Amino acid sequence: MITGKNYIGVDTSAKNSRTYSTFNPKLNKPTEWIFHEASQEEVNAAVDKAALAFETYGKFPDAKKAEFLKAIASEIEALGDELISVYVQESGLPEGRAKGERGRTMGQLRAFATLLEEGSWVEATIDTAQPDREPLPKVDIRKMLLPIGPIAVFGASNFPLAFSTAGGDTASALASGCPVIVKSHPMHAGTGELVASAIAKAAKKTGMPDGVFSNLNSRDSEVGQLLTMHPKVKGVGFTGSTNGGMALYKLASQRKEPIPVFAEMGSINPVVVLSSALEQKSSEWASQYAGSIVLGAGQFCTNPGLIIGIKGQALDGFITNLGKEIEKLEPTCMLHPNIYEGYEKGKKELSSQPKTAEVAAYKGETAPNFGEQKILTVAAQDFLDNPVLHKEVFGPFSIVVQCQDKAELVTVIQHLEGQLTGTILGTETEIKTNPEVVSALVNRVGRIIFNGVPTGVEVCPSMMHGGPFPSTTDSRFTSVGTSAIRRWVRPVSFQSWPEEILPDALKSNNPLDIMRLVNGEHSKQKI
Ligand code: NAP
Repeated sequence: MITGKNYIGVDTSAKNSRTYSTFNPKLNKPTEWIFHEASQEEVNAAVDKAALAFETYGKFPDAKKAEFLKAIASEIEALGDELISVYVQESGLPEGRAKGERGRTMGQLRAFATLLEEGSWVEATIDTAQPDREPLPKVDIRKMLLPIGPIAVFGASNFPLAFSTAGGDTASALASGCPVIVKSHPMHAGTGELVASAIAKAAKKTGMPDGVFSNLNSRDSEVGQLLTMHPKVKGVGFTGSTNGGMALYKLASQRKEPIPVFAEMGSINPVVVLSSALEQKSSEWASQYAGSIVLGAGQFCTNPGLIIGIKGQALDGFITNLGKEIEKLEPTCMLHPNIYEGYEKGKKELSSQPKTAEVAAYKGETAPNFGEQKILTVAAQDFLDNPVLHKEVFGPFSIVVQCQDKAELVTVIQHLEGQLTGTILGTETEIKTNPEVVSALVNRVGRIIFNGVPTGVEVCPSMMHGGPFPSTTDSRFTSVGTSAIRRWVRPVSFQSWPEEILPDALKSNNPLDIMRLVNGEHSKQKI
């Protein structure tokens, strides 16, 4: 039996009598698990504890934080089948996906541990003194990255593990030395509780300070807003809707001390199909794209929601193939009735726009909360004239935009909002002969894919999962992969600082044996 404990060291959950349950979308009824809405006292207690924990945790050696992250991964593994069962019941997602996402979550935690064990991520930069420099002597300056303080993390509904309680935001913040307070996602609070219990165990086993991690249950916006406004919270990680992300971003920027909000929001992930792809690989791409559009009931931020090509027989053929392929696929259960209703509403709104035509739609019988796929098509000028068609419809839905010529195709790309990904299907020669298409797309996206599908985000140091606004609030940072740690740190210079009291990363004898930039040269050498 799962109950809301709000892991903050002391259990004060009983203070708030407002409770809620999660929902099983496949059975179309609430689960038996009860959660307490976190009270304002709990929010304050969690943040106060986090701020106190930061005083020690923020200075812990990387090796100790790595031990904690690895212990979290092991404790999540030790939750065994119960975690998988609760995840499946609360999300409607299949067991295979749950297990895959658990593996990814543990992999992320271990990847950050490896980053810490190697140690060079702090970007130690040293410029030694030149007392004899003319006309003025140069002082000794040494710089490194330091954690910013307690971070509030909002988990995503569509990734109950990998982007939630112990997901990428939490793992990267803890790796950097920042304590974390999670505002649990109300649709999978049970999964969140189990993961929070694993983190609490790992913290105890590895001697972490009380308050290094807290999990606050809530299904109202108030708890998240209190957290974002709390003066001791120094940053926010968010994945979800544009409305939610922007509400938090605005709150954070209106604080007496504004703080960064790294929000990953909507994206329609444009796909440009060049002529060779339409002429030579039409059925192959149609089949792959049908699969990508309906994957996970379309509930991925990288779902391909827009396909752009130049009008003609080849594009007509591709559209027909895509329609046939998508009709063959069976719809699957969406995460929650609210997400399903949001999808139905969005699908209806876009389908009713003038000058759009239906390509294909699933017409069979489905169980409640199953997302039925649909494809529309529209002429480029009509797409350009109607901003409603640029909106993300979160689910198995896509629009094919038909352009008159290459110039119009480039115009369409230039008029898109910022996106997480952009894809080009074609040949290398076409890439070389269409530089204006490529550069228009690069300007709009964080990741550009050649001959592939945008769904599937590898967790590795070279991944960029972020993009120009409104796909995220800060296109300079990724929320996936080890570079995500950079969101929670700031550079600090130590000027003329005595050797013995410098942080280890900056000491002349390089006790951590890390790569540093010393007087303009990358080196592990002692000075
Ligand atoms: P959401 O509604 O944005 O909620 C995400 C988290 O933010 C929840 O914990 C929610 O808590 C909190 N929140 C939302 N609005 C808030 C506000 N104004 N103030 C404070 N906290 C707020 O996203 P969701 O529940 O994951 O899904 C809803 C819709 O978001 C989907 O249908 C889809 O359109 C979109 N979505 C997009 C992506 C993407 O990557 N593109 C991913 C997931 C969802 P409370 O519910 O307790 O307020």
